[in-house]
Formats: sequence, C-alpha cells, structure tokens
Amino acid sequence: MKKLILNFKSKETKKIKNPKNFLGGKGANLSEMGKMGLPVPPGFTISTEVCKLFYKEKKRLGKKIIEQIKKELKVVEKDVSKKFGDNKNPLLLSVRSGARVSMPGMMDTILNLGLNDKTVEALSKKTSNGRFAKDSYRRFIQMYGNVVMGVESYHFEELIENYKLTKGVLLDTDLDENDWDGLIDDFKKTVKEKSGKDFPQDVFDQLLGAVSAVFLSWESNRAKVYRKLNQIPSEWGTAVNVQSMVFGNMGNDCATGVVFTRNPSDGSNDIYGEYLINAQGEDVVAGTRTPQYITKKARKSAGVDALSMEESMPKVYKELDKILTKLEKHYKDMQDVEFTVENQKLWMLQTRSGKRTSKSAVKIAVDMVKEKLISKKEAVLRIDPNSLDTLLHPTLDEKTKINVIANGLPASPGASSGKVVFDSDEAERLNDMMQDTILVRVETSPEDIHGMHAAKGILTARGGMTSHAAVVARGMGRPCVSGSSEIEINYDEKIFKTADQTVKEGDVITIDGSTGRVILGNVPTVQPEISGDFSKLMSWADSFRKLKVRTNSETPLDTKTAREFGAEGIGLCRTEHMFFDEERILSVREMILSKTKEDRAKALDKLLPHQKKDFMEIFKIMSGLPVTVRLLDPPLHEFLPRTEKEIGEVASVVNLPAKEIENRINELHEQNPMLGHRGCRLGISFPEIYEMQCRAIFEALCELKKNKIKSAFPEIMIPLVSTEMEIRLMKELVINTAKNVQNENKVKIDFLVGTMIELPRAAIKARDIAKHAEFFSFGTNDLTQTTFGISRDDSGKFLNDYIENKIFSIDPFVSIDDGVGDLVKIAVEQGKKENKTIKLGICGEHGGDPKSIEFCSKAGLNYVSCSPYRVPVARLAAAQSEIQKKN
Ligand code: ADP
Ligand code: MG
Ligand code: MG
Repeated sequence: MKKLILNFKSKETKKIKNPKNFLGGKGANLSEMGKMGLPVPPGFTISTEVCKLFYKEKKRLGKKIIEQIKKELKVVEKDVSKKFGDNKNPLLLSVRSGARVSMPGMMDTILNLGLNDKTVEALSKKTSNGRFAKDSYRRFIQMYGNVVMGVESYHFEELIENYKLTKGVLLDTDLDENDWDGLIDDFKKTVKEKSGKDFPQDVFDQLLGAVSAVFLSWESNRAKVYRKLNQIPSEWGTAVNVQSMVFGNMGNDCATGVVFTRNPSDGSNDIYGEYLINAQGEDVVAGTRTPQYITKKARKSAGVDALSMEESMPKVYKELDKILTKLEKHYKDMQDVEFTVENQKLWMLQTRSGKRTSKSAVKIAVDMVKEKLISKKEAVLRIDPNSLDTLLHPTLDEKTKINVIANGLPASPGASSGKVVFDSDEAERLNDMMQDTILVRVETSPEDIHGMHAAKGILTARGGMTSHAAVVARGMGRPCVSGSSEIEINYDEKIFKTADQTVKEGDVITIDGSTGRVILGNVPTVQPEISGDFSKLMSWADSFRKLKVRTNSETPLDTKTAREFGAEGIGLCRTEHMFFDEERILSVREMILSKTKEDRAKALDKLLPHQKKDFMEIFKIMSGLPVTVRLLDPPLHEFLPRTEKEIGEVASVVNLPAKEIENRINELHEQNPMLGHRGCRLGISFPEIYEMQCRAIFEALCELKKNKIKSAFPEIMIPLVSTEMEIRLMKELVINTAKNVQNENKVKIDFLVGTMIELPRAAIKARDIAKHAEFFSFGTNDLTQTTFGISRDDSGKFLNDYIENKIFSIDPFVSIDDGVGDLVKIAVEQGKKENKTIKLGICGEHGGDPKSIEFCSKAGLNYVSCSPYRVPVARLAAAQSEIQKKN
C-alpha cells in the first residue's frame, strides 16, 4: 500500500510529482523547508488521499490509517524526545488543515493538543511556569471545544469577561495560574453542558477528533461557497498537518510573527512584517494587542517607539533574515512566512508565495531578473495581464473614508468623481464649463457617445460587462460601473434612488470602475505612475511575442493613447462613431431621409470633408502602421432624430413636413435591427454611402502624400459579409473609387480590401470569400451573437442562470467560446487554402481578453485588436502564450 501519511523528513516526497496535490500547500512547503535544513518543528502530513478515503468510508478514519498515524507519531516523539500523553514530559501538537491552495472556510488550527488534567501538571513542572501551562490548556479547551465539539466561543469569552469583572482586572495578562485553573473547570463544565460530552482526556481521542474535524470542514458551507466562487473542485480534498508545538508564549524571550520577504505593497526589497512578544498562534492578526515591527527601518518610518524585533532580539532577527534570503533563493519568489521564537530559538511554521499589489508584482519580477533569481521569460509569466489595468488608471486614494451607496459591475477600470447628470447634452454642457460630471443612465446608446466623452465616468442601472456603456467606456478609458440594479433612476424628477439614499442631479458622486462601487461625495484619486519597471517588463514581453497588438479606435485622442501604450496600428476604426458629432449628425440624418439619389448625394457631399479630416488626423498619428477602417455598419435608424425638436430641425433642412419625416422614421423601423438592414447590406442598397467613405479615406491619403506627411497604411474593411457576391461587389466599388481619386489627384494609392468574418456562413464559406479579400478580421462580438443566436444586449437577463447551471463557465462575450473558436479555425483554414498570405486578425472585445488572446495565438492569427487601455494587457498576454507554447 502506498504511504498515505508522510513525515516532513520523508524522502518519498521527492518522488511525488505534484507534492502540493498530495500534501496540500502547507504540508508540501513544511516538508520542503525541513529538507532545506531550516528549523521546522517535527511533524507529518496526512495526505489529501486520506481525506478521500474518509468520505468513502462514511466519514470515519479506517484502522490502517489510525495505525499509520500512530507510527508517525512515534517518529516525532523520538525526534523531540517527548511522549504524547506522558505524565512527565508530554509532547503537544498542532493540528492544521492545508488544501492545495490556501482556502478560507477550512478548520482553524488547533494548538496545544495533548493537554489534559495530568499532562498540564507535567508541563507546568517541566517549564516551572504554571501560568503558561494553564494558559495553554485553557486555550486548547477553548479551541477544541469550539472547532471540534461545536461549542460557540462566546460562551468561553463570557466566562473570562465575567471573571475579570469580579476580580476587577482588565487584561487577560492580569490573570494568574490560579485564576486560569478555576476557569479551566468552568470551561470543561460548559463543554459538557453545551455538547453533552465530556472534554476528552484521552490524548489520542483528541488527535483523531481533530483530524476528523479538519476533514469534515472540507464540506462545511463556508468552504463550499468559497470553492464555488473560485472554481476549486470538491474532489481535491484537504490534507492535515500534525506538528509538535513550539511556544511563543513562555516568557519575554519568546515571540510569534508573520513576515514578507519583500514589501507586498510597493515591492521594495525590504523584509516587512510584525511580531508579538510572549504570544501564541493568531494573536498577531487577532488585533487584541498591537504588534510591533520586524525591522528598525519600518519602525522608524512609522514613527513608533515599541522596539522592532531587529532591536529586541538581534540574534534571532539575523537568523530570520538569513532564512528569508534562503527561502527566496529556493522558491524564486516573494514569500509570506510565519514563525515562532521559543526561548530565543527560531522556528519556521509556514511559507508560501506572498500576495501582492500589481505595482509590487511588477517591481519584484523586474528586480528578481536583475538579481539573476529568475529569467526574463519567468518574469513575464509572473504577472497576471488583467492586473495591469490597475497600473494604467487612476485609483481611489485608499486613505479616504468612503460611503458606498450602491454596487454594480466593474465595467471599466479607474475611479472618478463628478456631478450627477442624467443626459448626454447636459454632460457636454457642463464639460464646456470645465465641470466634472458622472453620466447616469438606465443604459447608454450610440447617441450618448458625446456625453460619455464629456463625462468623467459612466454609471448605468442596466447592462452587463459587454453592454454598450461598458464597451465604449473601456474603449475611451472612462471609468464605468454598469448594471447597478441597486439604483433606480427617475429621468423626470432627475434623481436616482438607492436602498437608503436619494441622489439629485448636481450632487457629487464617485464611481470606482475597478470594483463596481458607487460612492457618495468626492473621493480624491491618485494617478498611478507608469514606472521604469513597467516599461522594462513590457519590452521583455514584446521581445517574446509574435502576435501583433492593434487597437480599436476612431478618435485622435484614443489613437494617441493607444500608440503610447504600444499599439501597432488600428484593427478597427468604426466610422459611424464619427457621425455622431453635433455638426454632422444633421447631414447624416439628411442623407438617410433623402428620397432621391441626388438629394442623398448632396448630403453626402457635406459629410465628405468631415470624414476626410478625421482620417487625415488618425492616419497621421498611426503613421507607418496599418489602419483598418470599417465602412458603415449599424442600422440607419440608430442615427434618426427622436425628439420633436430634432425632427423639426431635419424637416427644415430637407424641406419636408415633419409628418413626412415621422413616416419615414416609421418605415425604417426594424423588428430585429441586429439582423436587419446593416453592414454591407447598406453598401449594396446605397453604394453612394460607401463610395463617399472610401473617397474620404483616399483623398486623406493623397493630401498627406502631397504634403509629404507620412501616413498610415489603410485597410478597408467590409462588415457583415456572408456571401462571395457581397464582398465581390463591394471590392469593385472600393477599387473603382480608388481609381477615380488616383486619377483626379495623380497620386498613387496603396491599400488592402478585406472583410469582417462575423457570421457563421462567412466562416464556413471563407474559401470563396477569400477570393476577394486580402484580410479577414474576426468580429467575434457578432460572431458570438450569431453563433449562439443570443443577443448580447439581452443576455444579461439569463446569463447568471447559465453560469449557475454550468452551461457557461464564463460569459462567451468576455472569453471566446470554443464553438465560436471552431468557426474561426475553419475560416482560417479555408481562407488560407485560397490565399496563403491572407492577413488574419481579431477585432471583437475578445481581443483584450488574455484567454482569448491565447486562443488567437494558437489559431495562427497575425494580430489582435483591443481598446487602448487593454493594449498593454494584450501585449503581455500575447508574450505569455508564445512562451508557454514552447514549454
Ligand atoms: P493558517 O492557515 O490560518 O495560517 P496555520 O496552520 O498557519 O493557519 O496556523 C496558524 C498559526 O498557528 C501559525 O501562524 C502559528 O502561529 C500557530 N502554529 C501552527 N503550528 C504551530 C506549532 N507547531 N507550534 C506553534 N505554533 C503553531
Ligand atoms: Mg498560517
Ligand atoms: Mg459587427
């Protein structure tokens, strides 16, 4: 039979492939520290396999297991020259849970196990410290009574508090041996009363009870909830670590503490931690006494008088310092360590990779490369790409007190404050007056673009992480909290209500798009520095990746930002966003509502110079890089006037009665606009619209050339193609327009024509489409919608049910689904059959999602395109997927 219980010293650990899976994280590291020659109190790990057996055998520990435990206990007894349950020199134990990953919800550690009425006397004699012995015993009864026998801890606390009152003292430390003696009797009575059982005096019963309790805690509600939230399989089980006790509470030459090998908040290479003299277990984190600093430097900079460990226990401190260096060298990562000092002797009780902020993660990774601890590749792999977000956006000043009034989805990171406004025009008006606003809407539509731009942040009551508000806000780098169902908006009264707050237009609120919090009042923000370490890490990432990273952008500002973040071109420039400008929207409406071709041509002529100017600016900013311009895509009615005033304006320009405009609006209404008259279907019906757009692109190009300004390289993209004929006709139109502009200007024009692949038919028939396309760009938002037949704007209503029922493990609009992925693969394969050198990219929201980027890299795409603030995230994710490919 395979050994299921292993001593920390056991050589067999080396043969185990994944020690953490078998021994749990804590057990594996205790055993590893022991093998490094560090002072670890002897002990053994009851493996996760035993946990599985425990549940198989109706929650009982089998005979063989009990025998093995006894055997290992003998080894520990020999090591420390003490005996479990002995009346002269008793061995005491700690019993600790330890799953593969550290997991809240598991059983609390039980300390001082092995004490009973007899051994406590032995301990007292042996240490000549009756108070310590009794204090340890009452702690043990309290812990064991609580976690194993189910007696609520307040019963014990109450006894202590009442006793202190009668004695007239304040602190536990004011109680002496006799006081504890009396309390121990009371504790035992309480255990009997509340659990119906005597407190066990047999030490082996104590041990088996504790081990079973650890296993039972694996199926506790708290543990189950945590597993569900963090996708931890319930099959893993937990291990149990049984270890001889060392005592930090035997006097003033004893202590217990926790320490990080580097500073977890800023990453500086200083050890950082806290300790308590004469204390045990969780006293340091419990907050009953104020812990002291480990280093003199930290104490000084905090302006505290209480001596640091470096000063009060210099010899032990030096040893600890040495051990921390050794641990870092060994694990090649920042460690979070727990230790205890017993009579000036240092003992190591735990080590693990320390949690840290993104800022500190980047600094530590870069420093460790400089220190030759890790390679550049390892440094690049260390950083979670999604965590970079917090390095790019302003964050709330955590020192400020805040009043959170509602919560929503963290749709677009960053924090900002401003006056509440309920419509986009108002946001723009106040912005012109240099006032900061937060735009609060039930949901947003393309018409709100100007308001979203003008506002400092966006809050919506409806819509998910890929709602219009969320996508556009991320694109602009505007903080956004979406889908906050806790707020109720009343546009008429210009207020919104939360559970216990009414917020009026003009009131100041703050939103934190990184956490989804809505806060009353102004909260100062801090602009994170993009430090030298960050750019260094990014340059390493760039050296490993093959996938190019472009951006989705249509404004000069976003384009500039993206280029500063390292974008290598634009993968999606949505021309319709340029239509919403106040000056232009009227001409756009005029164009849509015109009855005749001639009238439409007139309106288009007015739009041409605007579009041309936009393209010139963007082509200048992206000089030398490719820019994919998508021709008009959304259904026309999105641009139509809604209010009476707007209808009146259009009516006077096109010289028609308002009634007729209204009729025309009704005519344009669609039942299902997502599947309606949009994309290249518009180009087929109204070729003059696409012609104008192409003309604007080409004339911009000519003008830049004439002025000897280096331009970007245009790639013209036809949206929503599903058949060969569509792309063929549209390509002809583009080429003819190019010829005309070229002849008129006597300037040679270079460009590509390609298509979006965003409909299943296009993916399947990609070979035919590739006859006329020089590139494919996968529009995975629409491709996901059309593959599932799920409208992304309506999916919020049932998405949670789908995730809860494990139909989706993650929102397919956030991370690419493998069925949609298969369509991409088919299109790549078919497209390449026709055109070996076809350029391939992705421009959906997935382009900024690390998992989807890994997919793109494997599928052989040339680039991903994402919103400007995701560009660094994508660069890092692309590097990681390339590095992992080779491993
Ligand atoms: P957690 O997983 O919550 O950190 P641990 O198993 O690390 O729980 O135990 C919590 C604390 O109990 C430790 O930090 C240490 O102070 C104390 N402890 C655990 N084992 C021992 C031991 N063998 N001797 C002394 N103290 C111990
Ligand atoms: Mg611990
Ligand atoms: Mg689309």
